[in-house]
Formats: sequence, structure tokens, C-alpha cells
Amino acid sequence: MFLDEAQINIKAGDGGNGIVSFFLLKGSYKKIACGGNGGRGGNVIIRSTPNLSTLLGFKKKVHFKAESGQAGMPNNRTGRTGEDLLIYVPTGTIIKDGEKQILADLVKDGQEYHAAAGGAGGRGNANFVSQERRFPGFAEKGEKAQDAWIVLELRLLADVALVGFPNSGKSTIISRISAAKPKIADYPFTTLTPNLGVVSYNDDSTFVVADIPGIIEGAHKGVGLGDRFLRHILRSKILAVILDGALLLENEPEELVKSFQVIRNEVKLYEPSLYKKDYIIVINKTDLFQNTDKLEAAAKELKKKSRKPVLMISAVSSVGIDKLVKVLYERVVKARLLSEQAEKAKELGEKSYKVYSVGKIEEEKEKFEIIKDGEEYIVKNKRLERLVSMTNLENKEALEYLKNKLKKMKTGDRLKKMGIEVGSTVIIGNLVFELIE
Ligand code: GDP
Ligand code: MG
Repeated sequence: MFLDEAQINIKAGDGGNGIVSFFLLKGSYKKIACGGNGGRGGNVIIRSTPNLSTLLGFKKKVHFKAESGQAGMPNNRTGRTGEDLLIYVPTGTIIKDGEKQILADLVKDGQEYHAAAGGAGGRGNANFVSQERRFPGFAEKGEKAQDAWIVLELRLLADVALVGFPNSGKSTIISRISAAKPKIADYPFTTLTPNLGVVSYNDDSTFVVADIPGIIEGAHKGVGLGDRFLRHILRSKILAVILDGALLLENEPEELVKSFQVIRNEVKLYEPSLYKKDYIIVINKTDLFQNTDKLEAAAKELKKKSRKPVLMISAVSSVGIDKLVKVLYERVVKARLLSEQAEKAKELGEKSYKVYSVGKIEEEKEKFEIIKDGEEYIVKNKRLERLVSMTNLENKEALEYLKNKLKKMKTGDRLKKMGIEVGSTVIIGNLVFELIE
């Protein structure tokens, strides 16, 4: 497999703060709590798309942050929800957490993984009105979203496969047009090393080019790269037949046409489905000629025979390389659109979006741990930590509310049962208190 890997940092939006506000009734001294809730923060969602073929874009941009929710407003108005952040990745991307555990495998187009959930909005003071507390002077803070590093992994699929005789310049072409060389994992047949490059076009668009050393070098006679590489190549959308222009230094134009026909024939023997793919013809090494008449005559003949574009390039001097990249890119895009349409037609009526849940995060919330640190006990529990972090600890009323809440949740009893003695200091998030009877 050709692996492309990127590490990104994601963070959902923080929840907006709830606010403290009172509404004064006209003509009287009566006031009514009316502080609105903060809006929820935006989620981070990762979605697969067929329009990308590499993770190259994530080398430049590493941090992704969804919008925060806005603070509540007077008159019980809730703050605006933060917008979700959509991160597009190529179809086939596997998402792993920091410990390399697989979180999702986006095998089909349009699948989504909810990578991070936005923080809840804090409640405004209007929410805390009760019989005993008619004028709550506090509100909740918005929940802070935590950031996380995740790993994206892609099994690269070649968009373009280069075929041609040895020495026609395939490797040189790949190194000339590619922006990045992905890691190439072990292949059992190391005598013929597949060569792969990621080509970037107009900055943001990329496609993958692979050289198939196996075909002409006797692959169909059984000395090839094996099924794994073949399967990989079969997914390519376009072939580029590379012809060695140097042949015409001492031969007539027909020689190049003949060489083309031999290659086409070899491809057919090697794999009929590859033979049927769209292709272009590339005549390389034009720099060896001062007079290009023979090359042009060959090109004309090839165009007539194939009805495909015939490009003349020099991989060494870079002449014609930009045009080559452009022509390949356009054909790759066209092929992608076609396969996208075919995919859509196939799945008409059937919902192809699968949303992966945040199951692991839910599990985390329930974990309850106590760490003894000298004379102090640190309580690790997401639910309690969240409660504390959303409390304005400088506000007496808010603190009182929190105390009652913890009491209601029987937190003290639980801590005692877990072996913490009365009188000990307990820490939850930023809250430090003494465990009492
Ligand atoms: P491959 O076997 O098809 O991968 O071919 P390589 O890329 O290894 O190239 C074979 C030889 O042709 C090398 O010596 C290259 O330097 C040379 N070569 C490749 N492209 C050009 C070109 O555009 N002009 C000239 N003059 N030589 C080239
Ligand atoms: Mg080579």
C-alpha cells in the first residue's frame, strides 16, 4: 500500500456563556430574571469526497477549529449556535486517534465522521429561578471544547498510470511533475519498485501518478508486482503511454508507431480492463532533436490511429511538462465526475451517508477516577469536571448552586464510599473543597 498520512488538530466550538440580566417591570420595583442561554458551539465533521485524492492539503493546514457559540442575550434570547466545521478528506481515508485506534473508515463518498462535538451553551440566569431563589445573580459559563490530535491515513490510489518500455523516461517524468513522494510500503517483489508521485495542480488540486514497471518488463509472463499492485493500478482512471523519442534518432517515424502498438498489445495481454481505460500518448526526450520533423510526423500518425491527445515533452528540460499536467488533470477530473455519477445512480434512493457517532466520548464521560496527590484527592470524571468548568466560581450564588447540585448527585457519598475520609481536600477541575459529614 502507498500510505499518505497527516496529523491534524481539531477543536469543536466552545459553548457561549449564559448571561445575568433582569427585566424591570414598568412602574414598579419588580424585576424578573431574563438572562438568555449561550449558543452551542459548532461541531467538527469530517466528510469524504471523491474530489480529493491525497492528504497533501493537510501539510499546510493543521489546525481546524469550529465556531464558538455566542453569549446569551437579555429578554431570554439564546445566543447563536456556532457553525459546524466541515473538513473534506479523500474517500478511503481512515481516521485514527492519538493512540492509533481506528475511529472511522470513510470508504464511500459522502460519509461523515463526527469528530468533535461543540460545547454546550451555558444557561442564563432565567433558568435558575426557583421558589427560594427569585433573583439569581449568576449564570453558567459555556462548556469549553477540548482540542484533540487525530491521524488521517489514506491508502493512495493512482489516478494516472504510466506505461512504457524501460528507459522511456517514466521515473524521470514522475519526479519532474510530482510535488510529494509518499512513503511506499514494502512490496514482496522488490526488483521492480513501483514509483508513485503526487502531482499538485493549481495549488489545491492533486492527483496521483504511478509508474507500472511490471507491464512491459515481462509482467504478464509472471514476473510482475503481484496482485496487490495490480489491484491498485486497476483503480487508476487514465493511462499515459510513454514513448521514447530517442528511437527516432536513427529510425523512421513508423518505428515510434510500432512501439506504441507493442505497448498497447502488452497492456491488453496484461489486463484487459486496463486496456479499455482512457489514455493519452506522450513522446518524451524531444530535447535530443534540433529538427523535430520526424517527431511531428510520428505524432500525427499516432493521433490518427488513436484519436487521443499526443503530447511532446522533454522530462529533462521540462518542455511540455505544464501542458502534460494540465491535460492529465482535466482527464482525471472528467473521469472522477463520471465515476461519481455512476456511484450516485447506483445508490439512488439508498442513503449513502453514514454518520459515525461519538460513542467513545460518551464512554469517557462515565469514567470515574480518584488520584491521590499527597493529602489531596483529585477527582477525574468528565461529568463533574464539566459541571465545575461551567460554574462561575467567583460568584457566591453560583457556588451555592453547585454545592447543592453536587449534593443532589450524591457526590460526597460516592467519594466516601471510594475511601476518601471526611476532612480531606478534594479537587474537581478548578474547584477545591473539603469533604464534610
Ligand atoms: P524509465 O525506465 O521509463 O523509468 O526511465 P527513466 O526515467 O529511468 O529514464 C531512462 C533514461 O532516460 C535516464 O538516463 C534519463 O536520464 C533519460 N531521460 C529521461 N527523460 C529524458 C528526456 O526528456 N530527455 C533525455 N535526453 N533523456 C531523458
Ligand atoms: Mg523507472
